[in-house]
Amino acid sequence: MLKEPKIKQEINLIELIERFHDEDRCRAYLEKMRWPDGVRCLRCGETSISRRKRRHQYQCNSCRYDFSVTAGTIFHDTHLPLWKWFLAVYLIVEAKKGISANQLKRTLGVGYKTAWYLCHRIRAAFNEVDAQLLKGIVETDETFVGGKVEGMGRGYTDNKVVVVGALQRDGAIRLKVVKGRDRETLQGFIRENVAGDTKAIYTDELTSYIGIGDEDTEHETVNHSAKEYVRGDVHVNSMENVWSLLKRSIIGSYHQVSAKHLDAYLDELEFRFNNRENPHMFRDALCKLLVANSLPYAKLIADS
Ligand SMILES: [Zn+2]
Repeated sequence: MLKEPKIKQEINLIELIERFHDEDRCRAYLEKMRWPDGVRCLRCGETSISRRKRRHQYQCNSCRYDFSVTAGTIFHDTHLPLWKWFLAVYLIVEAKKGISANQLKRTLGVGYKTAWYLCHRIRAAFNEVDAQLLKGIVETDETFVGGKVEGMGRGYTDNKVVVVGALQRDGAIRLKVVKGRDRETLQGFIRENVAGDTKAIYTDELTSYIGIGDEDTEHETVNHSAKEYVRGDVHVNSMENVWSLLKRSIIGSYHQVSAKHLDAYLDELEFRFNNRENPHMFRDALCKLLVANSLPYAKLIADS
């Protein structure tokens, strides 16, 4: 059985409010994170700068460029106070099963659109850029998500999407929405996410996985259709647990997830899961947001 992620965060809600209840404190924190060795001009790199306290601006003493700690970051072009961003990040990383835009709206006292936008921006930032390849013993499995649409009955499957996942035993997971369960897609996903010389890959009996093993990688399967779920060490139960976590999140917190946004939800789940023993998750999430590309609202709502 997978252990339910037990996160003992370095910061609790009370401390969060004590430390970050105003704009200046949030800015000071971001400043330390962005420039650990002291503020640098964003244009020329000069370290001699003047602070213009009132407008939260710095001015470069060399090229006279005016900039702020949020310039060029995701925090910049929203009119939301930073402490609300901080609180939103905290609530999202702290909620084991995630938090819906509606709940965030009520908690932060913002409009639905803002809450929804925050959720999506924060999730997008969780997308790991330089994820390491999984190694050792890796379970791979796939599942269908969606399928029930209000008033369409159980047989309606048009909105079902396939999600494939890989999990390193006692390690990280990778999840992705894919177009189907064919060999090219599933094996392509494995090649992208699992080290070529990994010790073993465990899957179910789906024929698409045939041939994924080689001289330095064993491929073992469990035959689910013959009611075989575990054979010695060979099983995909940890992956199955991730699926049930995913499905409980969708049912419990999100109610419905469009296929378009499912990848972002997966990123969030992945981030939370892979950081399940990281007590600095809040700080690391803020750090990711600071370096993330901003995601314009227009792009986010396009074709949704
Ligand atoms: Zn400068």
